[in-house]
Amino acid sequence: PVVLGIESSCDETGAGLVREGRLLGHAVASSMAEHARFGGVVPEIAARAHIHALTPVVEEALAGAGLRMSDIGAVAVTTGPGLSGALQVGVSGAKGLAYALGVPLYGVHHLAGHVAADTLAHGPLPDPCVVLIVSGGHTSLLLVRDLARDPIVHLGDTLDDAAGECFDKVARVFGLPYPGGPAIDRAARAGNPGAVPFPRPLTGPRDDPYAFSFSGLKTAAARWAESRTAGGLPVADGAASLQEAIADVLTRKAVAACAAYGVGTLVVVGGVAANSRVRALAEQRCAAAGITLRVPPLGLCTDNGAMIAAVGDLLVRAGAEPAPLELSIDPSAPLEYAALHPVAAV
Ligand code: ATP
Ligand code: MG
Ligand code: FE
Repeated sequence: PVVLGIESSCDETGAGLVREGRLLGHAVASSMAEHARFGGVVPEIAARAHIHALTPVVEEALAGAGLRMSDIGAVAVTTGPGLSGALQVGVSGAKGLAYALGVPLYGVHHLAGHVAADTLAHGPLPDPCVVLIVSGGHTSLLLVRDLARDPIVHLGDTLDDAAGECFDKVARVFGLPYPGGPAIDRAARAGNPGAVPFPRPLTGPRDDPYAFSFSGLKTAAARWAESRTAGGLPVADGAASLQEAIADVLTRKAVAACAAYGVGTLVVVGGVAANSRVRALAEQRCAAAGITLRVPPLGLCTDNGAMIAAVGDLLVRAGAEPAPLELSIDPSAPLEYAALHPVAAV
């Protein structure tokens, strides 16, 4: 069947259509601009924006795929983690559609969506693979087997901030516009990545090889910025050096995990996977280590509905039990399984 995926966990409203692993069409609307003057996502504004965007985004995805509402054979929706008001809009809309069309409904974990995004560009994931999820709210190294059936093993997670959060917060200190990640990426092009010796947290011989920490790096960058206000802040150098430190730590640990677990494929996903230096360094280090690297195209790295449809499609094909219509949101859902509702053993 054609699976419609709906995403509304943060400030992007996404709808995507997937059948048998193939992306048929998708559309994304963002309320990013409405949050810019507050320097971060305002939950109430995000929730209201989803209400306005949901129907147009579903219609746009259908039009792009040359399909009609009646072609939809299943609906998958992000039930968490994310902002509760925002999630509620997507889940309510998905329930209404599933009920009206008489098709099964699936509750999907947002981060499993980020992982599945790569399958739309590069085909089924090998079993096992190591996945580095780097996004606005999460930074984790995972061992993934069958995404639709098996539990996801966490090799390591961030102990404090996510990598994306570090980009966003340091960008603010540097006086760069919101959202910070893309702004730092742009500013870094004109800078020297070796200009500021920022720390490489948790890379010592006695540190957990797969855990991350970015709050110290954020503080180091803020201190550096404060110390430079007198002569004018060399933002490009700061941005390039911060980006280098983050990319170095992320790719070093991810490649080490592949080697330690004897896994031949690394998949890098989430918004920060859009970062040009993370992509380049991952490419370089994987090539040197004989590891196959998979990174989704830019438009599938940040939040979208196609990735949620991709998980729904995997669940349908695995014969997973659909969610009941009383499916509820789970704003702080831990990443254990791709489906966020009880899945009958298959
Ligand atoms: P989560 O997925 O953890 O719930 P989220 O959905 O808000 O969080 P994503 O949409 O996956 O996060 O990614 C957004 C994050 O990606 C932001 O922190 C943003 O700054 C970062 N990001 C996007 N593009 C880039 C880039 N080119 N370089 C660095 N960071 C980037
Ligand atoms: Mg976003
Ligand atoms: Fe996300």
